[in-house]
Amino acid sequence: MTDQRAVRQLRHDPADRPLITIWEVTRACALVCRHCRADAQTRAHPRQLTTEQGRALLADIAGFGTPYPIVVLTGGDPFERPDLAELVSYGTSLGLHVALSPSVTPRLTPDVLADLRAAGAVAMSLSLDGAAAATHDSFRGVPGVFDDTLRAARWVKEAGFRLQVNTTVTEANVAELPDVLRTVIGLDASLWSVFFLVPTGRGTALTPLSAPGVEDVLHWMHDVSDLIAVKATEAPHYRRVAIQRARGDHVELGELYQRLTAATASLRLGRTEQLRRPRPPIDVNSGRGFAFIDHLGDVYPSGFLPQRCGNVTEQGFRELYRTDPLLRSLRDPSAFHGKCGTCEFREVCGGSRSHAYAVTGDVLGSDPTCVYVAAS
Ligand code: SF4
Repeated sequence: MTDQRAVRQLRHDPADRPLITIWEVTRACALVCRHCRADAQTRAHPRQLTTEQGRALLADIAGFGTPYPIVVLTGGDPFERPDLAELVSYGTSLGLHVALSPSVTPRLTPDVLADLRAAGAVAMSLSLDGAAAATHDSFRGVPGVFDDTLRAARWVKEAGFRLQVNTTVTEANVAELPDVLRTVIGLDASLWSVFFLVPTGRGTALTPLSAPGVEDVLHWMHDVSDLIAVKATEAPHYRRVAIQRARGDHVELGELYQRLTAATASLRLGRTEQLRRPRPPIDVNSGRGFAFIDHLGDVYPSGFLPQRCGNVTEQGFRELYRTDPLLRSLRDPSAFHGKCGTCEFREVCGGSRSHAYAVTGDVLGSDPTCVYVAAS
């Protein structure tokens, strides 16, 4: 079923090791974002993992061996941790690729970026949730963060990091996506990650896209993937879309798709050639090539799936990842319920387990954000 040209497969068994491990090094953060998964706080939790526990975790992750998992240090705001450069340096000394996902606050300065780059961090992601200050600042809860983010993005590039821009899409800002795309291209980002809001944490106060809206956006993202590398976060059916497009399936798209496409046309003016080879989406999903460790060391299949699998201070992360019953069940699409369980794309897509859980309460249930119904 899988078209190798349309979807990248992992080069290793996802049951053996993750491709990406996210570690929430702290929940402390100066921002009060409306969609915050972590429900971040102004102060670090007194029981957040210590420097020594963090070093032990990084050593455990490095124990997977090559190819090493990519480690993303997130928060809260990871820049709230005084030992961040030490952790980055230790992780890179073990051979890990370490990326950072900070908040844009006064803690993000060219000097701090230079220190973290010198410590070995290779990539950094920043959030941009609108094409104008009014939209972005209202998401972030602090006036001025939009302009600060554009300035920070330039500093990140100047410091020598690969820049990723993350955009959370909801009903409120979906119309701005073409303008956000224009901004992201202007920032010379290497990757644009569009995150499909999961109604969990503070995100329950916002309105996620409808399933047809998600479908329109995914097809539009596929169209613009020759302008910039794109990634769909919490929408694994982007892989189904990529396969359907590669094999020339007829699909009915909605008015949102037409509007986004029309608004993007000016980006292509005078550029008839294919600008870049589209980057096929990679086949990972919650618990299957991906895992999340929170600030206390609790392990989850994803940061948006609040089903705890254990704690790294009680059981090694490697053992947990390989043996936890929930993580194992998430790697078995034949056990999924509803239409995801019978879908022809269940192996390569599998649906967003986070959306399924948030909406239905069944972690193995159908992804309610997908419109696809297999022909019977
Ligand atoms: S029905 Fe489920 S498995 Fe099939 S494409 Fe949609 S989300 Fe993916």
